Amino acid sequence: MSDYKDIIRKPETLNWFKAAMGMNITRHCLLDIVKQASRELYDTIRKEINRKHGILEHVVCSQCHTPHVLPCDTDNKCCHYKYGSCTFHDIHKSQRCRAYLCNEMCKEIVYHHRFRNRTKPKSFRGPTWDNTDARKWCADPWQIAKCYLSKDGYKDVNKADDTDFNGIVNVLLNCEFFQMYFKDDLTQKENVCTKVLLLQNV
Ligand SMILES: [Zn+2]
Ligand SMILES: [Zn+2]
Repeated sequence: MSDYKDIIRKPETLNWFKAAMGMNITRHCLLDIVKQASRELYDTIRKEINRKHGILEHVVCSQCHTPHVLPCDTDNKCCHYKYGSCTFHDIHKSQRCRAYLCNEMCKEIVYHHRFRNRTKPKSFRGPTWDNTDARKWCADPWQIAKCYLSKDGYKDVNKADDTDFNGIVNVLLNCEFFQMYFKDDLTQKENVCTKVLLLQNV
């Protein structure tokens, strides 16, 4: 037992502990920003859809599943063909939202993704539709923010508060809308977010 006491008293251990505490405090601060910013992103998307298509902001929809509104295209991260049909669109085929809203929201989510460009490797490219539930887009802005998580595995993380540090930083980096909260230029290959992510993976 005394061995453990020695380890705890060591400066290296204390530094490690301080770093972990620091990361936790940073995560809490970032969470507040992401939650507020996600609400602003939703409002911006709705204003844009109103401007382009005249669909008023009070019109909401909770009927469309994500595969309903996402066009089937093997170029996105979730459409995979097995025995001749797409596993993502197996139950819900692409169709038009009755409120003429969700398909447009889907397009706007893509528009705000930093890596929507088709020249990017597929695993980095565009929103991660597997993570989100389009039926909740009008009720819970976090379901929109989830599209900007970098990879699968967050499907059941329904609240921003349950998202890990990596996930929050990825949302901030992958959604161009969040650039306004940074002094650093996130278009640069090396920026404050990529540096943090790199440190996390060491
Ligand atoms: Zn598909
Ligand atoms: Zn809809």
